[in-house]
Amino acid sequence: MATAVAGPEIERLIQLLARLPGLGPRSARRAALHLIKKREALMTPLSAALQVAIDKIQVCNTCGNIDTQNPCTVCTDPRRDQSIIVVVADVADLWALERAHATNGLYHVLGATLSPLDGVGPQDLTIDALVARAHAPQVTEIILALNATVDGQTTAHYITDLLQEAGVKVTRLAHGVPVGGELDYLDEGTLSAAMRQRTLF
Ligand code: ZN
Repeated sequence: MATAVAGPEIERLIQLLARLPGLGPRSARRAALHLIKKREALMTPLSAALQVAIDKIQVCNTCGNIDTQNPCTVCTDPRRDQSIIVVVADVADLWALERAHATNGLYHVLGATLSPLDGVGPQDLTIDALVARAHAPQVTEIILALNATVDGQTTAHYITDLLQEAGVKVTRLAHGVPVGGELDYLDEGTLSAAMRQRTLF
């Protein structure tokens, strides 16, 4: 067992930081030390920001996004295209699409993808709410922006079947050559998917 080099309060800070994704024990120590050194400039405002987050962040009842308001900023933005709902597994995927300015539509966060091996079934996802939203008269297209993994595609097929009767167009993201990608470096699955989904030049 490693010897503690600091009092229990600092050790506790390090242990908590080490639970953050991307931070191992060593970088957690560095982060803790940095916070302590920048106590006024960083640790105090960080602590205040965390407290505000604890008090105010909530899950949007409509789309499953997280925000300090409910319905969320995306759902209440009148400039958003109300006819499109982009389905994602996780809020991180929503943020990624927003960073890329990939769509002006609304979102629906499933919370996960179906994964029979991990015991994640349809009842664990917000699929019923999605089907209900798809029946709204203004909705014309559901875009499935799910991971190109077995679980992601299983989920996409499952949802597509359920949306049949909603009378909406169901589309999914293209699979293919990444921007800036070189063909020689692509795996066979990506390359053959890109060939199948070729578009008119
Ligand atoms: Zn929302």
